[in-house]
Amino acid sequence: MTVANTPSQPLRVAIVGAGPAGFYVAEHLFRQTEVPVEVDMFDRLPTPFGLVRAGVAPDHQKIKSVTKVYDRIAQKPNFRFYGYVEFGAHLHLDDLKAHYHQIVFTTGAQTDRNLNIPGEDLSGSYAATEFVAWYNGHPDYRDCQFDLSQERAAVIGVGNVAVDVARILCRTPEELRQTDIADYALEALSRSKVKEVYLIGRRGPAQAAFTNPEIKEMGELAGADVAVPPEEAELDALSQADLEKSGNKLIARKVKILQDYAQNQPSDKERRLTLRFLVSPVELFGDEQGHLTGMKLVRNELYVSQSGVLRPKPIDQFETLPVGLVLRSVGYRGVPLPEIPFRQDWGIILNEQGRILAPETNQPLTGLYTAGWIKRGPSGVIGTNKPDAAETVKCMLADVGQGAVLSPPQPEVAAIDNLIRDRNPNYISYQDWLRLDELEQTKGAEQGRPRVKFTSIKEMLTALGRE
Ligand code: NAP
Repeated sequence: MTVANTPSQPLRVAIVGAGPAGFYVAEHLFRQTEVPVEVDMFDRLPTPFGLVRAGVAPDHQKIKSVTKVYDRIAQKPNFRFYGYVEFGAHLHLDDLKAHYHQIVFTTGAQTDRNLNIPGEDLSGSYAATEFVAWYNGHPDYRDCQFDLSQERAAVIGVGNVAVDVARILCRTPEELRQTDIADYALEALSRSKVKEVYLIGRRGPAQAAFTNPEIKEMGELAGADVAVPPEEAELDALSQADLEKSGNKLIARKVKILQDYAQNQPSDKERRLTLRFLVSPVELFGDEQGHLTGMKLVRNELYVSQSGVLRPKPIDQFETLPVGLVLRSVGYRGVPLPEIPFRQDWGIILNEQGRILAPETNQPLTGLYTAGWIKRGPSGVIGTNKPDAAETVKCMLADVGQGAVLSPPQPEVAAIDNLIRDRNPNYISYQDWLRLDELEQTKGAEQGRPRVKFTSIKEMLTALGRE
């Protein structure tokens, strides 16, 4: 099969966003044999891999080894990477439409959801997404400051990101030194005064969003005890009935882990992590300088919602938790892209199975697609993006079959290359990235660490002899 109206041309595809979803789209396109494909992948950062580099916790190196798969995809002769090329700044939708038959947006979810409670913006209250990007050396966040002089901290939310953040706050400097955490974060966290960390769940243990290996790991920290108030580890009647009905072994195991934590006796470890359940923050409050000093919590009970899910509702019982540091970890949120239809309420690109839709007609916009978190919202693990990308690629190939592709006036490989060189002569190729990767790993090896990251774009360009 050849691209409609361009019989001698391979299908030219632009992928915007070099995270897992983007690489899985490329992989699925290369796997099929019916349509010859050329892929150009763009990222606004010089470095590829999205949240695998800037989101996955530095002490979870095994998860990061998935980049070996992406490396293999990038070695295909019909793949090119253009790092440090930003959609909406260096390249616009019309530019891409002029050079590609299909364009796929895989930009992920780059910001955080709000709690919408008073005091959320006090100094000392931060989005967990920023903290994560900071300790992972994301160039946009390297200058952030987090007040680690506080002894008591709370992480709001009980998803895997909340667990990552709490774990990083509880790790000893020795533990952190073995990771690829950003150097400045290693230094700041080594001086951290944080002793008590609370994880705040608005529902019960059976509804906690974190997964079992992640919560189990909390019990294995060198420098922190884990605790759960025994009464909060118990299941309420609705959760108990739900669990018995579903027979869900993973949830039963999760509850057991938490109930075991509730039996823990304090040791002489320096830090303590306490998991709280069935409480919601209703207000953050501070001192006269506007610095956070505490959090007001309301107790919840669960009820069966219309969809059958157990939801929290506040009862009239309040408590105050004195904390000087709050990290809000209630989910990531997608950011709209210039000229691309967006569903503000869900924080995703308007789409059906990956085909981007026109808001006026709800009909697919020819040649425009999406995959990953910006398509479906911030859920699932890295591997979830594989079937998600497959769904998008299936639509793309079906549309090729129908001749429903863009008709770029300049589909030649050299044309876009010239345009990019013109717009940003400092763009980063995959070869450039491999060089940066090697330099990071070499520096890491000298220190017994997986890598020492470049955390500023200037440093990266200098290392490549560009400035
Ligand atoms: P998440 O799993 O959706 O968890 C969000 C948490 O925030 C939930 O506990 C949620 O409670 C809570 N929450 C939401 N709104 C709230 C509010 N107004 N007040 C109090 N709590 C609120 O999101 P995430 O932790 O950001 O993770 C995103 C995805 O990445 C997940 O699929 C996660 O598994 C994945 N991830 C995986 C790993 C790993 O595999 N190691 C690491 C990091 C992230 P409710 O459940 O009650 O809504």
